[in-house]
Amino acid sequence: MCICINCHYVDRCNTYHAVEQQHEQPHLTEMPDFEPIEPSINVNIRSQGDVIEMEWDVVGCNSFKEEMGKWARLRPGELVPT
Ligand code: SF4
Repeated sequence: MCICINCHYVDRCNTYHAVEQQHEQPHLTEMPDFEPIEPSINVNIRSQGDVIEMEWDVVGCNSFKEEMGKWARLRPGELVPT
């Protein structure tokens, strides 16, 4: 699971913006202005028949600042990305 959903910077972060892009999710912001320090991204590649799915998760980050439920508060009622 991506740690960013509980991070204070999720709606400003360049890396999370790229993760949204990869998952074809709507962006929390169109203009991220925060550059995180050393985010680690785990990429899972799954193939189902002819379809190849890639899943990107930030699993570590030196800029992580815990704010539990930050993503969910920004998008009330929506399914939290896993
Ligand atoms: S954990 Fe790091 S990469 Fe994820 S939103 Fe926070 S600052 Fe950005």
